[in-house]
Amino acid sequence: MPEPLTPAELRALDRQHVWHPYGPMPGRQDPLVVESAAGVRLRLAEPVEGVRELVDGMSSWWSAIHGYNHPALNDAARGQLDRMSHVMFGGLTHEPAVRLATRLVEITPEPLQHVFLADSGSVSVEVAVKMCLQYWRSLGRPAKRRLLTWRGGYHGDTWQPMAVCDPEGGMHRLWSGVLPEQIFADAPPPGFDADPDPAYEAHIRELVARHAHELAAVIVEPVVQGAGGMRFHSPALLRTLREACDEHDVLLVFDEIATGFGRSGALFAAEHAGVCPDVMCLGKALTGGYLTLAATLCTPRVAEGISRGEVPVLAHGPTFMGNPLATAVASASIELLLSYDWRQEVKRIETGLRDGLAEAAAVPGVRDVRVLGAIGVVQLDRPLDDAAMAAAARAAVREGVWLRPFRDLLYTMPPYITGDDDLARICAAVRAAATAAV
Ligand SMILES: *Cc1c(COP(=O)(O)O)cnc(C)c1O
Repeated sequence: MPEPLTPAELRALDRQHVWHPYGPMPGRQDPLVVESAAGVRLRLAEPVEGVRELVDGMSSWWSAIHGYNHPALNDAARGQLDRMSHVMFGGLTHEPAVRLATRLVEITPEPLQHVFLADSGSVSVEVAVKMCLQYWRSLGRPAKRRLLTWRGGYHGDTWQPMAVCDPEGGMHRLWSGVLPEQIFADAPPPGFDADPDPAYEAHIRELVARHAHELAAVIVEPVVQGAGGMRFHSPALLRTLREACDEHDVLLVFDEIATGFGRSGALFAAEHAGVCPDVMCLGKALTGGYLTLAATLCTPRVAEGISRGEVPVLAHGPTFMGNPLATAVASASIELLLSYDWRQEVKRIETGLRDGLAEAAAVPGVRDVRVLGAIGVVQLDRPLDDAAMAAAARAAVREGVWLRPFRDLLYTMPPYITGDDDLARICAAVRAAATAAV
């Protein structure tokens, strides 16, 4: 074993060599060095603001729903490690992948029957888009090759996903004119409980009708728009989309990478609407935050359409497709989730966030406070610059909590195992971050 690096050495090498998400090179802000993690706590390699352990308010970006270092997931990983950590998936198959795919078919809406295992959320969206475009090509209608979405969305950082991220408010403005030009409806009216707005419904119906001849699919995040702005909308809009797509021969894709596995209070957000898409993407919490894995599910109609085409295969096959370690841990994570009353826990967190964040509405500079399932959002009246963002994160650290604000948003989606005391702490940290930021 090499000598361990000191935190100061780590930071220096990190700054010199390592890209971080949405970061410049070299980095402008020192990341905190994490030494280990267990339950809902991240243990730092050195105290920061006098604090060594932070309650994780982020679930490592929606993924660590059971917390860290969970014995059941550790056992699944170790057990699989002793058998094999990887084999190629071309011409070979194995129990962890077959079990996971079968389980995903069982727990998702009934018409979704086929599973493509991808290596990350963005790749699963690429695969979903490829499926839809190839479906129409196979049916002899190659003109149907564009996508429609609504503004305010986020679908990942690779090429096709970027093209359906919000073109202005989003992170991909830089690429306008370079990315394929897709069709954007206005952002859905806010509010999970909002009455459906007939004018908005007419707007999306009209766009689908007008572009039907060139549309392969409509793609949206159901109910919760995540990294595009942390907004909630009425499930009724998903029924409107389903009807418009059926009427005009357009496929419907739901990106449930953030919402899947209980986060919004339903196992999948599509359940709030009772709507089934033709294609669905899962990721993030799929492995309980242990390993990178995503899945694209589709209906027999889509799979058969592709498989009867001129090129009768889905031409996609990542090297690490169906990785045994990742699929074994994913199955263990799903069984763990379904083994307890997760709905009750998500409800408990929803109530805790509502109570704990309500006061933040009175902080000057706070524009909106909203909660759905185990997601809490405090929106400010303007985007934070780097200094304000750092000040907000520091204020949370002083409260013993890890938060990662972005743009005008302070938000939290804690692990489902977060206890009431830690939840209260997270809420106090969000309030402190809001106060520090404005
Ligand atoms: C995070 C996310 C993605 C991208 O997933 P990666 O694993 O980061 O590539 C796509 N869609 C949604 C809704 C997401 O939240």
